Amino acid sequence: MADSNFIDYVKILCRSGKGGAGSRHYHRAKYIPKGGPDGGDGGRGGHIILRGNGHMWTLLPLRFQRHVFATDGQSGGAGRSHGKDGEDRIIEVPVGTAVFDADTGAFLCEITADGEEINLLRGGKGGLGNCHFATSTNRAPRYAQPGQPAIEKAVVLELKLLGDVGLVGFPNAGKSTLLSALSAAKPKIADYPFTTMEPSLGIVGYRGAQSFVMADIPGIIEGASEGKGLGLRFLRHIERNAVLLFMVPADSDDIKKDYEVLLRELHEFNPDLSDKSRVLAVSKSDMLDDELREEIARTLPDDLPAVFISAVTGQGLTELKDILWREINSEENKNNFTITHRPLDPRRRVEEEDNFIFEQESEDEDEILLETDEDWEDEFWDEESSVNN
Ligand code: GDP
Ligand code: MG
Repeated sequence: MADSNFIDYVKILCRSGKGGAGSRHYHRAKYIPKGGPDGGDGGRGGHIILRGNGHMWTLLPLRFQRHVFATDGQSGGAGRSHGKDGEDRIIEVPVGTAVFDADTGAFLCEITADGEEINLLRGGKGGLGNCHFATSTNRAPRYAQPGQPAIEKAVVLELKLLGDVGLVGFPNAGKSTLLSALSAAKPKIADYPFTTMEPSLGIVGYRGAQSFVMADIPGIIEGASEGKGLGLRFLRHIERNAVLLFMVPADSDDIKKDYEVLLRELHEFNPDLSDKSRVLAVSKSDMLDDELREEIARTLPDDLPAVFISAVTGQGLTELKDILWREINSEENKNNFTITHRPLDPRRRVEEEDNFIFEQESEDEDEILLETDEDWEDEFWDEESSVNN
């Protein structure tokens, strides 16, 4: 699949930035031998953020990007100077990308809109400098907080196709040919099974300015829901389609039975799929004469609209588009229209209190202080005295 331009699955190692350490600096100036603690805070580490991009259709741009690392926060400095924050890294993904923990397989989140941002890994917080810890009884604290460590996570990104119409049929039913005939998409077409290794999308123009999205999904074979053939890997793409267009070729031995097998496969994979609007297209109808056609028409299932089509002669295609358009815009489908095109949000700064899917446990400041050895103070003063002597 080296020439493929539809990537629906990538694994990426992500790492947020470490927090910079707080500084333990002491103010030093001529005539002020024992200036107070003036160590500044460390900067926070960079975050890892996911953002939906409505102009991306595949995960291809991420395919060779095995790592996404944010940079570390810098340490605090003298004169209470704050260390520079690490740089955030934003991973742009197509709308409809689901994110899983690569180690546990757990579902983490899903990007459902253009411009939507999900905070994945929080950068480590910067440590507080020693200037925060001076008290009346301890005027020269020798401690500063370390920065929080980085978080590393391998995630799997998986793209589910978003489309108005999903094509469902056995290999060779004519799905790719139909998509080519109706849209500018150029799927591979051949007369042997499994020519379509990846789903492809086409924009189908409808009566002038309108359009809808049609997804060509690789052929389902009987038993796909149990993992046979290529079907299972791609069945999940169908979950998002508003309308399912079943295609059975005119030269099938039993069109109704083929349709029922396809429907059963979908149902076994996910019962919700059988609730979707369905349309049946009898493809390759150019192979039928009027008599055969009438004979077949009498045997078609009666629980869905059916139309005879030929991608070769163009027969029935206008009627098919009319029916699909009507189904897409039906009351029940209008509201779960899955493709959303919204203008990109302006770059948003992540606020410190925003939620992240993964973040370090916040360390208890009291504990950090308790960890510090009281002797440090004495040592410090001894050291200082010897220096100053
Ligand atoms: P898919 O596996 O469902 O995508 O099927 P394809 O679109 O690759 O088509 C399989 C075969 O059927 C190819 O040889 C096509 O040329 C042929 N075919 C597709 N549509 C038509 C049609 O409308 N009429 C005829 N006669 N052949 C067709
Ligand atoms: Mg095909």
